[in-house]
Amino acid sequence: MSEKKSIKYGEREIFYDLQYLERKTMTIAVHPDGTVMVKVPIQTPFDKIETRLKKRSKWIAKHLDYFINFKPKVTPRQFISGETHLYLGRRYRLKIIIDNKEKVVATRGTIVVYIKYRDSDRIKNLVEKWYKEKADEHFAKSFNKCFEKFNKYNLKKPALKIRKMKKRWGSYSTKGTVTLNLELIKAPSECIDYVVTHELCHIKCKNHGAEFYKLLSKMMPEWEKNKKRLEKIFI
Ligand SMILES: [Zn+2]
Repeated sequence: MSEKKSIKYGEREIFYDLQYLERKTMTIAVHPDGTVMVKVPIQTPFDKIETRLKKRSKWIAKHLDYFINFKPKVTPRQFISGETHLYLGRRYRLKIIIDNKEKVVATRGTIVVYIKYRDSDRIKNLVEKWYKEKADEHFAKSFNKCFEKFNKYNLKKPALKIRKMKKRWGSYSTKGTVTLNLELIKAPSECIDYVVTHELCHIKCKNHGAEFYKLLSKMMPEWEKNKKRLEKIFI
């Protein structure tokens, strides 16, 4: 059982889930979906919990901001001629051409969809298949390039997976897999490199602690600029 509580941090109200458990210490965790989980030993007095949370509120707020911003903002699309779609950070206008041989080709500022008949679901499928092919190619290149920078650490190279993710641009599992959000193919190359580097840093540092940021800054000194750019994108 957990209780919903909140604490004030300046002007801001931070909500958290409080759980009393059979345990010895108190832990505070910020999850990527924006929830704050506070686990405390059963007999902990509430004022003690609040004091501890107040002390940690700056850290909690920082992590909440980090995760909240790290979420793709999606614009609904209709897959009709003239609509704009992103590819590697550039805007392309969609052009539909009726043709017996179905294919998708990107030329200067235009994504041309050759299709047997006009059907938005079919167009969507073709465009998404094209994005997937481009992502396979581009992400593998970025992954190899970024991993080279970690050479001196003698790390085992993780496997690379690509799929659609609602809440993250990427993730790292301790089983040794980096997963990238397919939608990242819509972001500029530097932003793709940033997400890849971020996930690769998790091989050495599991949490987003000071060590993590030290390593990230070493691997990509300009990471903050790329992160900010990524946050502004509406895919
Ligand atoms: Zn991370």
